Amino acid sequence: MGSIARSSRHVDWLCRDCLKWETSGTVPNRCPACGSPRMRSHDELFALSIAHVDCDAFYASVEKRDDPSLRDKPLIIGGGARGVVSTCCYIARQFGVRSAMPMFKARELCPDAVIIKPNMQKYVDVSRQIRRHMDALTPLVEPISIDEAFLDLTGTERVHKAPPALSLARFAKTIAEKIGVTISVGLSHNKFLAKVASDLDKPRGFAVIGKAETLTFLAPKPISLIYGVGKVFSETLKKDGYHTIGQLQDEDPIRLMKLYGEAGSRLARLSQGQDARKVSVDSEMKSISSETTFNTDIATLEDLSTELLKCTERLSERLKAKNVVGDTVTLKLKTSGFRLRTRARHLMMPTQLANVLYEAGMSLLQREADGTPFRLIGIGVSGLEAADGFDPVDLLEPLVARKAAAERAMDSVRSRFGRAAVVRGRLYTSRPDNQSAPASEEEAEDLESKFR
Ligand SMILES: [Mg+2]
Repeated sequence: MGSIARSSRHVDWLCRDCLKWETSGTVPNRCPACGSPRMRSHDELFALSIAHVDCDAFYASVEKRDDPSLRDKPLIIGGGARGVVSTCCYIARQFGVRSAMPMFKARELCPDAVIIKPNMQKYVDVSRQIRRHMDALTPLVEPISIDEAFLDLTGTERVHKAPPALSLARFAKTIAEKIGVTISVGLSHNKFLAKVASDLDKPRGFAVIGKAETLTFLAPKPISLIYGVGKVFSETLKKDGYHTIGQLQDEDPIRLMKLYGEAGSRLARLSQGQDARKVSVDSEMKSISSETTFNTDIATLEDLSTELLKCTERLSERLKAKNVVGDTVTLKLKTSGFRLRTRARHLMMPTQLANVLYEAGMSLLQREADGTPFRLIGIGVSGLEAADGFDPVDLLEPLVARKAAAERAMDSVRSRFGRAAVVRGRLYTSRPDNQSAPASEEEAEDLESKFR
């Protein structure tokens, strides 16, 4: 951690085993109290309070906990309806097995792996137990999936009589001892960096990114480290000559905005390690969605995309009515055999615009429309927040601005004359026998809690 070179200054340190903590001129290699080498030291350790907590190979850890004979074996959780790896333990990872990999490929790489079908109810129960321990740390817990959450521990020192870093180390120890799974902690000064940190030192990690090192830490990293920068956008950036975050740091923000609109200004901010998002209890798993069950099954991309567009229009209307935007789009499909497929995609910017939501939905749909007959399609958006300030009519991005303006004009006509007054050209092409009834508002509201 570079603490030896700066030994004239005072450095914060803690022992992750016995939880001794101190600020001193020198950092011992081993804990002076218990002798453990599991020390964490950093200039800003006791000043930082935004954390991302992520369970290590969660499903696999739970199964190993419940069957100790699996402990030293490569373990893969998967092989459900989708035929892909849900989670694999760290031993299986050494063979190259990864999450979301097709099962046949995982078996090829690791023929000796033990394969277990996921037991979601069990994982949800364990997740709830972990959540209760989080709630005891701070009221500001923002779960982002079954096994990870952001925590804001600002101002908790007095209650816990310890800095946030120590509360987190104690939490990690408690979860390992009482629940029997291990977690990794990322500690920093905002959500973006906390999430990056939790991935640095897995499993059983505890990584810190301080304010002072933020720029130098980010500079050599690939731009794909920035959340929401997917493959397509990465490729665009590469073509334009941007490979590392450092290149974005050195670029004029105005130029980035000219090139990429709002996404450019977001890149400019995040490349500097600036992320103003609050750890928000409200956005917890909430989503809004719209779905349609067809009268007859649909298999072609063209017909499915027409239905998707109709659902997206309704979804966008509801987001606008509630004055919220969201940043994660989920596509839901049900096959004629009642198998559910859900696919999600993170957006660069939160939105309520039908155009943007539809494009994201289509990119997911294109991969799923493989000739399978479907009986239902739906689209949802989560990561909701107040709409103020998003989807701005951005003069620097004329295409987005034009789309947004056209969409707003359409909305205002609809609000006066009803939805049927303006129908997108695309919808005229749909076949009459696939004109399925839109879900009623009550139905749609009811779906919110189920749609993940
Ligand atoms: Mg995890």
